[in-house]
Amino acid sequence: MDATSLIDEVRADLDHALVAVDFDGTLAPIVPDPADSRPAPGALAALRKLAERGAQVAVITGRDARTVLELGRLDVIPGLIIEGLYGAEQWRDGALRTPPEPESMQRLRAELPVLLEAGDPVLWIEDKRLSLVVHGRRAPDPEAALDTVRDAVAALGETLGLDVHPGRGVIELRLPGYEKGGALRRLVDEVRPATVLFIGDDVGDLPAFEAVAQLRGNGTRAWSVAVVSAEVPEVAEVADVAVDGPAGVVALLEALSR
Ligand SMILES: [Mg+2]
Repeated sequence: MDATSLIDEVRADLDHALVAVDFDGTLAPIVPDPADSRPAPGALAALRKLAERGAQVAVITGRDARTVLELGRLDVIPGLIIEGLYGAEQWRDGALRTPPEPESMQRLRAELPVLLEAGDPVLWIEDKRLSLVVHGRRAPDPEAALDTVRDAVAALGETLGLDVHPGRGVIELRLPGYEKGGALRRLVDEVRPATVLFIGDDVGDLPAFEAVAQLRGNGTRAWSVAVVSAEVPEVAEVADVAVDGPAGVVALLEALSR
């Protein structure tokens, strides 16, 4: 499918559409320190316009919902829903629904730093309360830096009953049972859209691409868009349309709302 056909399809049904987008690497360029992440120029305005035209806009992210809301200043988007921590929590109408922290996260918080002492010193830990992320993005070769601890991190995750997920220059340990495909399906059950668009850039978005394919198999008008990067070229192979970086996402969102 080409981007123009996708734009025409979604525009034709915008007021019954769910437009769900990932945050880092999709709306916002990947940066070495996640605290510096900001939406690409034009991204917020385009999402706001889509919402004003009647689309339900959602952000489905691995970050916690409140952080992404504040970093992105996303509260300017009318009716926005944020699925945070891969759907473990949801922010909607100004209220956050989030699960209590299990004991395994406290043990992880104590044991992960000890384990990292044996690895590349450039690695550091981001604490998202219900997940911890080992970051290699400050290293010249992030994957090589992560390789120094990869097996040990996987073993610790298994011991604690947590899911271990690789990402762009990161390894994440998180609560089991949450992934973006489940988050998207639940959103679809809540919102009941006639048309679904999901946009993402990383391996963590692959389950949502699969959910889109399933929805379409069940008769929903549903499409996926991959944001192509050198690190994760495989996302382009499973999505319906590929765009180039967050700037390509903004151009697509602007075309949808025009
Ligand atoms: Mg991403």
